Amino acid sequence: MLTDRSSRRRRLSVLAGLAIVATVISLTVAACTTVSAQNETPSAGAQTTGSAQTTGSAPTHKGPPNAEDGVLPDHTSAYDTSLPGIAKLDPALRKAVQAAETAMQADGIRMQVTTGWRSKKYQEELLAKAIRKYGSKKKALEYVADPDESHHVTGHAVDIGPTAADHWLNRNGNRYGLCQTLSNEIWHFELVTKPGDSCPPMTDPTK
Ligand SMILES: [Zn+2]
Repeated sequence: MLTDRSSRRRRLSVLAGLAIVATVISLTVAACTTVSAQNETPSAGAQTTGSAQTTGSAPTHKGPPNAEDGVLPDHTSAYDTSLPGIAKLDPALRKAVQAAETAMQADGIRMQVTTGWRSKKYQEELLAKAIRKYGSKKKALEYVADPDESHHVTGHAVDIGPTAADHWLNRNGNRYGLCQTLSNEIWHFELVTKPGDSCPPMTDPTK
């Protein structure tokens, strides 16, 4: 009798334990879902690892863009050529950015490439997100280029951070042929002048 009751009690406590475990698991799953949704922010880029686990073995991966699409981790240097976002840049642009990075570092500024080359898929995602944010494709195109026109997709543009590095490049980038080309993006640089020459007028994407 006693054993019977104690075994039932044990069974009950096992069931209670299982219920707790199930709750913890579902809470964890919920948290992961939220995290991977947040990770879709284009500029945050890097942390796509959480959602990578859920990616199936389909030939073109679903889910948010990852390193293969040009997403770069924080503190990426122009010398990090093992990353597709750097490796697939136009070699002349990459060389210019590397030279600027070295010179900037001597001035005490540590720059990072926040985006270099981007896959068309990545650019499409950015545009889709901007359309959701701004409510129309026309407005979205002021902030995100069309995938067929983006110079990131062709490997001819880099986005540089932090702001101190952007200011440095706006003062000295032309020594390396680098210029800000879009008037509303102080971080966006392209190789558009001869080293030492002045920069051409910027394009205003809002017009
Ligand atoms: Zn850019």
